[in-house]
Amino acid sequence: MCLLLAFPAAAEFNLSGSQCPHIQVLHRQDAGQVHEQYRGALESPQPAQVRDLVRAVNLLGPLSCLAVRRVAFINLAAEPEVIGWSMADSAQDLVYLNSASQALWDNLRLDGSPTARALAAQNFVHEASHVAVRLLQSRQRAEPADGEWSDVRVKGPRQRPDPSLWGDAAARQADSSIEALGLDRGVIRAWVDLHESWRSKGLAAAYYDDAWDHEATAEQDHAANGFASAYGGQAPIEDIAELAGWAATRPLFTAGARTAYKGAACEALRAQAGSIPDELAAIHAKLRFLLRLGVIDQAAFENCTGRAAREP
Ligand SMILES: [Zn+2]
Repeated sequence: MCLLLAFPAAAEFNLSGSQCPHIQVLHRQDAGQVHEQYRGALESPQPAQVRDLVRAVNLLGPLSCLAVRRVAFINLAAEPEVIGWSMADSAQDLVYLNSASQALWDNLRLDGSPTARALAAQNFVHEASHVAVRLLQSRQRAEPADGEWSDVRVKGPRQRPDPSLWGDAAARQADSSIEALGLDRGVIRAWVDLHESWRSKGLAAAYYDDAWDHEATAEQDHAANGFASAYGGQAPIEDIAELAGWAATRPLFTAGARTAYKGAACEALRAQAGSIPDELAAIHAKLRFLLRLGVIDQAAFENCTGRAAREP
């Protein structure tokens, strides 16, 4: 009797039915595991939140799947524009989701918009990509340089991720990605080298700095600049996360959703009837890199590139 009663609750609150069953969704009593500033705001998950989380988790590439070990729902009511985040200075395998986000849960409560839920999934894959980069940084030979950390706006010395946070399977996957792509100098260094190789041909722009005006660049121009989105153009680490997020979640966006909500890069690639034009070659190369890394899977690659995946 007790077992029968207990089973549905347990099934609602873990991710055993997903492709990443190891991911632990924290409950209120797990407050000791989250950053101290969020301990009072940690909430146990609701069934609808877990259902959406499973949907997002199932879109992760194999490396990102193994990298994320924990998810916490935080009631961050003071910052309703924040959907999710992760932190490079503590619990580096943990993705935080804002249960008070207007972009997400208000719509859910109203039985609402598929676009809001798709955006939340995009944000989750984005944050999971940051976690995957940290897993790689914990195993790569080179110490990450300034500006290569996943929250670039925090200045000062950083702590390299502790590889023992992750299990053997994650370590094996990370090591095989590092070896396959020759990432001895680090994953971000390799990404910047790739970007610069296109920039030197005049087929990508410099990363936008803090003075850059988001409004001044049309959404569709970011792809031609070599970036997944305006946000991705800010820094390599965000470029990786944005491109992975938009590629993976493309099928969740309905045809009527605004282009800006679906990511400039995938929209631009999918609009091409024939081969990839020069101005989108950088984005295409970056998608191939993410696929080989395991940050996205084959389905995400094909969703973003369209047209028979356009292998050269
Ligand atoms: Zn980010």
